[in-house]
Amino acid sequence: MSVHDEHPAGSWYAATANPLPDFAPLAGDVQADVAVLGGGFTGLSAALHLAEAGKRVVLLEAHRVGWGASGRNGGQIHTGQRRDQDYIEATMGKASARRLWTMAEEAKALLKDLITRHNIACDYRPGLVHAAHKAAFVPEMNAYAEKLACDYGYDQVVPLDRSQTAAALGTDVYFGGTLDRDGGHLHPLNFALGLATAAAQAGAVIHERTRVTGYTRGAGGKVRVATTSGTVMADYLLLCGDGYLDGIAPAVEASILPINNYILATEPLPPGLDARILPDGPAASDSRFVVNYWRKSQGGRLLFGGGETYSQSFPSDLKGFVRRHMLKVYPALADVGIDYAWGGAVAITVTRLPYLRKLEPNVLVASGYSGQGVMLAPYAGKVLAEAVCGTLDRLDVFASLPVPSFPGGRLLRWPALVAGMSWFALQDRL
Ligand SMILES: Cc1cc2nc3c(=O)[nH]c(=O)nc-3n(C[C@H](O)[C@H](O)[C@H](O)COP(=O)(O)OP(=O)(O)OC[C@H]3O[C@@H](n4cnc5c(N)ncnc54)[C@H](O)[C@@H]3O)c2cc1C
Repeated sequence: MSVHDEHPAGSWYAATANPLPDFAPLAGDVQADVAVLGGGFTGLSAALHLAEAGKRVVLLEAHRVGWGASGRNGGQIHTGQRRDQDYIEATMGKASARRLWTMAEEAKALLKDLITRHNIACDYRPGLVHAAHKAAFVPEMNAYAEKLACDYGYDQVVPLDRSQTAAALGTDVYFGGTLDRDGGHLHPLNFALGLATAAAQAGAVIHERTRVTGYTRGAGGKVRVATTSGTVMADYLLLCGDGYLDGIAPAVEASILPINNYILATEPLPPGLDARILPDGPAASDSRFVVNYWRKSQGGRLLFGGGETYSQSFPSDLKGFVRRHMLKVYPALADVGIDYAWGGAVAITVTRLPYLRKLEPNVLVASGYSGQGVMLAPYAGKVLAEAVCGTLDRLDVFASLPVPSFPGGRLLRWPALVAGMSWFALQDRL
């Protein structure tokens, strides 16, 4: 039995999780230099880097490490920020755009370095195809590839014409695309479990099944973190709950919005289809507003992400819900069985730029990666750790990004969002 059998998503990731012993819940009142709320990529990376810097760290996770988006996502490793460099240049100027590009490249390098340095078995593979679902997007994608090469020295994006895209993907429904040779994919839950192991080995104390219920200012400027089974008195608190930070920090929740997004895993593909679909092993995503994304697992299943809902509950027939999206891309999979389907909360921001900052002098937050967290969240955790240790320059860059609150704030953000997102989702079908 996998330790993640209790994972409520019932995902293929949970079924193929590397073994990891439980971390005991917090029992009683403890002291630490830093308390970390949340055991996903952000919190685990922060805990690892802080422990490596000699800090006493206590990480508090309401469920199991990797239980949130980090253990459920598409595993796709993107290049750059979630918004393209054209947008960032126009909004923030060329110097900031260059700094953000460099930081995104640092984030990708950190991800690969963490996998290598800590020997994390998470099926990392390079390559990410981006496919155009409208003909008009093809010249835009090619121009962007050229811009990255000319202006940023990034020559890893190769344009694909229509037949090359069809051959790379094993479907002819797209008009063209690009291959980012330095994008990639991994098994996200196993990456999170590997980070947890590395953090614990570096000296971080992890408590699972320990929900933070609130925090207050304690004596001597410390922060007192209350949980379901004890308290932590710490110099710093890092809020790394992302889309699951329910009710703990209203100011954060006014600026990020958890949207449920879904993935399925087919049965292992029959040999003919396995040879045809993604024969070179990259991941893929398309240009839709509600993006389709997919890749093959070890063992030849197709993991296909598609569809999201703007309410807090999952569709009742999750397999059927995602399968409809998959069949539009791969009609040939009509007779292939679906073994798993699951969902999770993607935390988005208004501008799709991440939300990192000091909320209070000793309470820091990192979240809102808007679908780019596989690569950005471990880096954001490191940025928080650096800030605690006194180096603020990277946190300051993120904190300067325009990330306003959603209209309506924490409580009333949903109705406006449902209207806006539904309109954009409709454009995908036109
Ligand atoms: C279906 C899906 C597909 C995605 N696909 C991709 C992709 O392909 N590529 C990509 O880059 N990104 C993708 N993402 C986004 C990515 O998964 C996230 O950006 C990233 O995992 C965020 O990591 P995190 O550590 O900040 O948050 P999480 O992994 O969500 O971790 C937060 C943790 O905090 C804990 N927590 C919350 N509140 C409390 C509390 N009060 N007390 C204690 N613990 C608490 C939760 O239990 C949770 O484990 C996807 C997300 C989803 C849901």
